[in-house]
Amino acid sequence: MTKLEARGWRLAPLAVAAALSLSCSRGGSSAAETTPADTKKFLDTANATLLKLGIAANQAGWVQQTYITDDTEAIAARANQDLSDANARLAKEATKFDKVAAPADQRRELLLLKTSLVLTPPSDAKESEELSKIMARLESTYGKGKWCPDPAKPDACRNIDDITKILATSRSEKELRAAWEGWHSIAPPMRKDYQRFVELSNKGARELGFADTGAMWRGKYDMPADDFTRELDRLWGQVRPLYLKLHAYVRMKLRQKYGDAVPADGPMPAHLLGNIWAQDWTNIYPLAATPNADPGYSLTDILKKRNVPPLEMARIAERFYTSIGFDPLPKTFWERSLFVRPKDRDVVCHASAWDIDVESDVRIKMCIDQTAEDFTTIHHEQGHNFYQRAYKDQPVIFRDSANDGFHEAIGDTIALSVTPEYLVRIGLLDKAPDTSRDIGLLMNKALEKIAFLPFGLLIDQWRWKVFSGEVAPSAYNKAWWDLKLKYQGVAPASARGEELFDPGAKYHVPDNTPYTRYFLADILQFQFHRALSKIAGCTLPLNRCSIYQSKEAGARLNAMLSMGASRPWQDALETLTGSRQMDATAILDYFAPLSTWLDAQLAGQKVGW
Ligand SMILES: [Zn+2]
Repeated sequence: MTKLEARGWRLAPLAVAAALSLSCSRGGSSAAETTPADTKKFLDTANATLLKLGIAANQAGWVQQTYITDDTEAIAARANQDLSDANARLAKEATKFDKVAAPADQRRELLLLKTSLVLTPPSDAKESEELSKIMARLESTYGKGKWCPDPAKPDACRNIDDITKILATSRSEKELRAAWEGWHSIAPPMRKDYQRFVELSNKGARELGFADTGAMWRGKYDMPADDFTRELDRLWGQVRPLYLKLHAYVRMKLRQKYGDAVPADGPMPAHLLGNIWAQDWTNIYPLAATPNADPGYSLTDILKKRNVPPLEMARIAERFYTSIGFDPLPKTFWERSLFVRPKDRDVVCHASAWDIDVESDVRIKMCIDQTAEDFTTIHHEQGHNFYQRAYKDQPVIFRDSANDGFHEAIGDTIALSVTPEYLVRIGLLDKAPDTSRDIGLLMNKALEKIAFLPFGLLIDQWRWKVFSGEVAPSAYNKAWWDLKLKYQGVAPASARGEELFDPGAKYHVPDNTPYTRYFLADILQFQFHRALSKIAGCTLPLNRCSIYQSKEAGARLNAMLSMGASRPWQDALETLTGSRQMDATAILDYFAPLSTWLDAQLAGQKVGW
């Protein structure tokens, strides 16, 4: 549910490495002197180093997030820096073996080392330091970002939480527009820094042999960079017709609410969709609500009425996984996880799954409430943990998901199995409602998952063009809005010139976290769900299938999970689904009832913009 990586040895996002001691990358031992035996030795050392520093960073990170003080923050920052320094150094050393003959698995370990970096500092110590400072500045500009409607009243300034709340709950066009513009006013100071960041990070990527930073990011997807870009467009093409229908329906509903502020057949105003970036529209569900939308039960009410404790909710989730054949979580999971918000200290409550020792010390950190949302989230988070357990026997570099879309997709796949029928089978619900009640549930899910897809795609489309130079600094903002229009069909309420820097108002841009993984996760989870439901013999509509208690589905899932990152993701995908290609048509299957319903609602309406 959360747009956050699970934590293993590879921290995401990797902090920029400080000046590297490896200024010898050009003058070091040449390929001619490097032998296959050296490759093995290098990889053994790399695995051991990453394991040691990864564990230290995870332990420090865990303490920092569950016991926030200035000291724990400093300790965690130091441990992260040590890990990312080592990672950057090993990535550069790995290039020495580019031309050495090596068995396929060693070749893959070298490749993953080189592509594990999100940012490569240039070897030049001064430039590396400059990059470090820019990254810190970008992050803090975002982190401290505030909208001050009246500069004379600093107490009235709004931070991102305040603005998020306004966007989610206000139904005043004027107030929404002011808040939207207010948040975007934090970004223009980042513009110059971002331009320099692009130059310096590209320099580092070129030292690793990549054309630019964007090519380095695409380099981890087991196919030529250009093919991968085309592949994403193909997937988007599959799901776009459904997005257009949802877009047209929501536009119609917004027009009913806001009148001429919303065009009848043009793009939707970006500030009216319940979210600062228009990436998730669930907050405007009340405006888009469907008749007969009530599913006939409330899981939140059931959990509260029966007073199901947080720990029991986690136990229920574990029983899902053991029901499909996975071993129970280790005793330490129950001893060391954080399930409820402590009363005596500050913690980061944002749900996350951890793999502290990259072997068996898995945990979750979550402040569980008795809500339907948290019930689903705990199933999702444990999905990360069972993935981590499944690949624990791989070499350290392979203890990761097949590609970075897979980890989030697994948790979400299992969350898709939290259906009314599942609730009946575990005794929380007496009787599953009739499928005619599904439109409301599907609409809610579509406002989250379908609405997100074009956004999940366009962030990196923009960055790849920026890194490659196809988009010049003089056109940063224009290119951003061109893509917003092309993919999302949304437009700003007022002109956005080049004095602004609207991409910087999205966390992942100043923070430099790649974003395509979230698009992939959204596609893959439905493809996994369809494949597993078929293996489980489900004959219900896809949105009603749960793989609970299916040992066959569990075995196939485990076969894929235990591969970790040891093979190209296409092999992993084939192991589970029988196909080597990602396929967004499972999304169409899942939302088929909603799609038909939308057709009826949209009679006579223009679809598209
Ligand atoms: Zn997750």
